[in-house]
Amino acid sequence: MYEIAIIGAGPAGASAALFAAKAGKKTLLIDNDKGMTRRGWYENYYGISEIGGPDLVETGHKQAVKFGAELVSEQAVKLSPSGEGFVIESESGISYEAKHVILATGVLTDLAALAGVETKDGTEPRIKTVIAVNTEGKTNIEGIWAAGTVAGVSVHAIITAGDGAKVAINIISELNGARFVDHDVLKA
Ligand SMILES: Cc1cc2nc3c(=O)[nH]c(=O)nc-3n(C[C@H](O)[C@H](O)[C@H](O)COP(=O)(O)OP(=O)(O)OC[C@H]3O[C@@H](n4cnc5c(N)ncnc54)[C@H](O)[C@@H]3O)c2cc1C
Repeated sequence: MYEIAIIGAGPAGASAALFAAKAGKKTLLIDNDKGMTRRGWYENYYGISEIGGPDLVETGHKQAVKFGAELVSEQAVKLSPSGEGFVIESESGISYEAKHVILATGVLTDLAALAGVETKDGTEPRIKTVIAVNTEGKTNIEGIWAAGTVAGVSVHAIITAGDGAKVAINIISELNGARFVDHDVLKA
């Protein structure tokens, strides 16, 4: 069983996976590569002068995988409770079990709605429906969290990435039983 499974590997999901895996959590990242991020050109991402969407997405995937996240190319079609966590069923027929699930599905709320996760009207331009979350990123179902565009944050790559990191840090903290901080010191 994975400790944290993330559905969607745009900036929100991949950033969550990077933090989760780097913290030593058994992490799964499921993505069907139909997100919006690849289509953009980014000159407002702090710390990066300019970058194309494909490079931003692929670098994020590599960072998460480098720390041990398992990235699978799959369409998640069903999410339901199972034992002490959840089972995620994929289009290919493979099932994955996880204690915590982060929905980072961009503009899509269909999987969440099917699972009984509460949604609400979006407030950002062109985002019709989002998942209802509290300030930590928790949905109405204990153990299911949401991050990024689908959680209703401002539709900008740096904000969705930060939101994914925030939600992962909250889950890691819950699993560890203490607030989690990931700081590396400057290398010589
Ligand atoms: C043309 C364009 C230009 C933009 N320009 C800028 C810009 O200049 N600056 C800026 O800051 N922002 C820009 N943005 C916005 C920015 O791309 C988004 O705010 C941000 O990257 C969204 O990240 P996300 O992770 O929330 O969603 P996404 O990147 O959409 O990621 C969601 C992921 O979930 C996956 N997924 C969804 N459902 C499933 C499922 N059931 N199973 C498996 N995988 C699933 C999708 O395939 C996708 O990979 C632009 C967007 C567009 C479209």
